[in-house]
Amino acid sequence: MSEVFKNRLSQLCTKVGRQIPVWTQGAGGNISIKEGNRLWIKATGYRLDEVKGSVGIAQVDYKKMVEVLHQNDWIESEAEENYAKLIRETTLPGLGLGLASMETGFHALLPGKYVAHFHSLASLLLYHELAKDRARVLKWLQQKTDLECAFVPVCRPGWILSGKIKGHASLYFLESHGIILHSDKDSLVEEWAILEKDFCKDFNYPLLYSLLIETKTFTELFQQFATEPMPFKCYFPDIAVFSERIEKILEPTSTRDHLLFPFSAVDKDRDMAELWLATQLIFQMCPDFKEVPSEITSVVRDLPTEKLRRQRELNHA
Ligand SMILES: [Zn+2]
Repeated sequence: MSEVFKNRLSQLCTKVGRQIPVWTQGAGGNISIKEGNRLWIKATGYRLDEVKGSVGIAQVDYKKMVEVLHQNDWIESEAEENYAKLIRETTLPGLGLGLASMETGFHALLPGKYVAHFHSLASLLLYHELAKDRARVLKWLQQKTDLECAFVPVCRPGWILSGKIKGHASLYFLESHGIILHSDKDSLVEEWAILEKDFCKDFNYPLLYSLLIETKTFTELFQQFATEPMPFKCYFPDIAVFSERIEKILEPTSTRDHLLFPFSAVDKDRDMAELWLATQLIFQMCPDFKEVPSEITSVVRDLPTEKLRRQRELNHA
């Protein structure tokens, strides 16, 4: 990978990865750059803010991956295993390089040079507003941006999600999951940052707006917003993937169904604390926010690609 692109990729990972928990939580999110026949992407199990130089990067023969995905002849019962195998086989070896993640499929399929995917809370709330009043949100987007937008109803991450990312829109809003930014220009992250602030203003989410412009430390944010007990809510797939790990930390309280993430555990498992803080914020801003359907959460933990990711995280935690 040329130095120019290596720097660009780590700069983008840093830019997105420092927006905790409003853009990214734990090791979620993924950014890629295409260079010739190669796709360079954050490696599975790494946090975006860990990507530096060659650390935390995977190299993928993405044209081979696209070729196989386009054949689309896997039978349902074998598709997830085949998809995990495809990711392993198209990840190219190299000194210090990692394994590509389960979301590499759509990074490979989208033709633009830059693809950034993360779990932006504003994008989750935008989809929530879309479900309530589609016409209002579409009209608002039309007035605010020239970028082509696409909406992907809630679905299983990994292979299924890759199959739903069609065309060459610039913004893909993923219901109960996050956003995909796609462009030949790396300025798209800034464009999204402007758009989501406008969304917070126009759709009355002042708390999220303040979080997007403030620079508080994670500890301050956790103390301010996540010390009250609340029910366990699965608002996006990573919560399902790591539910066992979070539940081990959560303590019961005297209020039925309400659980507490003790502040003393924040440093012990920062990734889970970030997921919990994001959950708390959504719950406080939007108590009727729809959870990921149980038919998705029940299978997402056992996807071969997710098992691999959890293993990777333990290995270098
Ligand atoms: Zn994701």
